[in-house]
Amino acid sequence: MKPAVEVSAEHRERLCLVNERLNQVFGYPEWRNPLPALDELVSTFLSQNTNDLNRDKAFDAIRARYANWDEVCEADPDEFMQVIRVAGLANQKGPNIQAALRRIREERDEIDLEWLKELPVEEAREWLLSFKGVGRKTTAIVLLFSLGMPAFPVDTHIYRVSGRIGLRPQKLDVDTTHQYLEAAADPAQYYAMHLNLIRLGREICQARKPACARCPLVEICQYPDKVLD
Ligand code: SF4
Repeated sequence: MKPAVEVSAEHRERLCLVNERLNQVFGYPEWRNPLPALDELVSTFLSQNTNDLNRDKAFDAIRARYANWDEVCEADPDEFMQVIRVAGLANQKGPNIQAALRRIREERDEIDLEWLKELPVEEAREWLLSFKGVGRKTTAIVLLFSLGMPAFPVDTHIYRVSGRIGLRPQKLDVDTTHQYLEAAADPAQYYAMHLNLIRLGREICQARKPACARCPLVEICQYPDKVLD
C-alpha cells in the first residue's frame, strides 16, 4: 500500500522524465553486493554520519572479531564500541546495534530478518522503525535492497537534488520526502531511481557547486541558481 500523500501531476511527470533520462545516460545501475537483511541493518547503523569506506571497515571489524550475531549481542559494550570506532559515534551506534540484535533475538528466537518478506511492506516498515536509531532511510534500504520490497530511501544527495530539480515541494522535510517520492514513482522505478539520483548528486549536482553545464537534466531541472559556466 502506498503512503497517503497527495502528489502533484507536475512532480509525477517530471520524475518520469528524470528517470528516463538518467537511465539513458547512466544505464541501469547495480547496487553493491546485496547483503542479507540483518547485515544491511547493521551496515546502515554504521553508515550514519560517515563514509562508505569507514562503514565497511567497521562492518569488517565486527566480522573479524565475532563469529556470529549472538556473540555481538553478548559482547562487552565497551569492547564492541572499540571494534566499530572507525565508523564514528560508537557510543551511540554500539548500544543501538546491540539493543536491536537482542530485541530481534527475544522476539523471534533467532537473529534474522528474512521473515519480514512475508509481511505487507507497511507492517515491515513500522516494525523496523520501532528500533532506536533506525530511521526511514535505514528502513527503506533494508526493505528495498535486501528484501526486495517496494520502498524508496532518501539520503542527503537525493534530498538535495530532488529539491533542486523540482521533484517535490521545496519545504518538505526529509521524512515526508520518503513518502512523497515513494508515492510519486512507480515501485518498479525505485531501485534505479535511488542509485541514479545518488550518482547525479555525487558526480554532477554537488552541494556547493552543481555542474549544470554538463548535467543531463539541465533542460528539465527547475533550480533557479544553475551554474552554467
Ligand atoms: S541542472 Fe544543475 S541544479 Fe539541476 S540537477 Fe543538474 S546539476 Fe543539479
